[in-house]
Amino acid sequence: MLYTSRTPLSSVPPSAAPPLPDFCSLNFRRRGLTQGEGAIISESEMSAPPHDHSAQQVLTGLAKIGLALKVHAWQTSGPQGLTPTQGQILTLLQARAPRALNEVASELGVGAATVSEAVTTLVRKRLVQKTRAPHDRRQLVLLLTARGRRVATRIAGWPDFLLHAIHLLSGEERGVLLRTLVKIIRTLQERRQIPVARMCVTCRFFRPNVYPGSERPHHCAFVDAPFGDHELRLECRDHQPADLPAAAAQWAAFCGRSPPESDLAPS
Ligand code: SF4
Repeated sequence: MLYTSRTPLSSVPPSAAPPLPDFCSLNFRRRGLTQGEGAIISESEMSAPPHDHSAQQVLTGLAKIGLALKVHAWQTSGPQGLTPTQGQILTLLQARAPRALNEVASELGVGAATVSEAVTTLVRKRLVQKTRAPHDRRQLVLLLTARGRRVATRIAGWPDFLLHAIHLLSGEERGVLLRTLVKIIRTLQERRQIPVARMCVTCRFFRPNVYPGSERPHHCAFVDAPFGDHELRLECRDHQPADLPAAAAQWAAFCGRSPPESDLAPS
């Protein structure tokens, strides 16, 4: 059965997707790295973990939330005469612009041809304009027009139903949820199954667990301030990627252990 934006949430079945890995059991070996920035998962860790019931239920829950967000994207973009992809491009450009077309495609996790087609429509609707990059006049970049900014503001808000449900969680529960999401997203990022996120755990300014036992155990060297799990960033405009050994050491410290020296030594 094909699930669309019109599929009632109640009819979403348990997902048939493979179960999730045990994220905190991942080791830090530099042999057999996946390709890509900061990739530190070995080939053995890339193999599928054993199936279990709780993983299946987690997947089912994520699928239900994902479908609800998709429905929301259609509901907010549709009345503006936009597809969800066009709406996402406006939202991205509102968060940060100018951006090159390839950069937008990479953040959305879709092909350049798809973004190019959507941008052509947005330019025709006078919501987006193409201009020369200030630092390189040969490169074309995308900007919102004044009209595009107004439309982006209308569609950018997070769905109230989801915000309400999240606000019902305690601060501690939110911290645990955010930490768990960071681990899932990082693993997907290492496997190149999700667009690269500018997260604290891959940032050169991140100092995890430097204040053990504190409510704010981590430190951001960019703003020079401590912060807790509930304040971890999944998308930060000040993010700068850490190099591979630093990223491995940060991840181990975030998970509460030290990577073995041999695992971090150059092969
Ligand atoms: S600069 Fe941003 S991503 Fe980096 S550690 Fe600070 S808050 Fe996190």
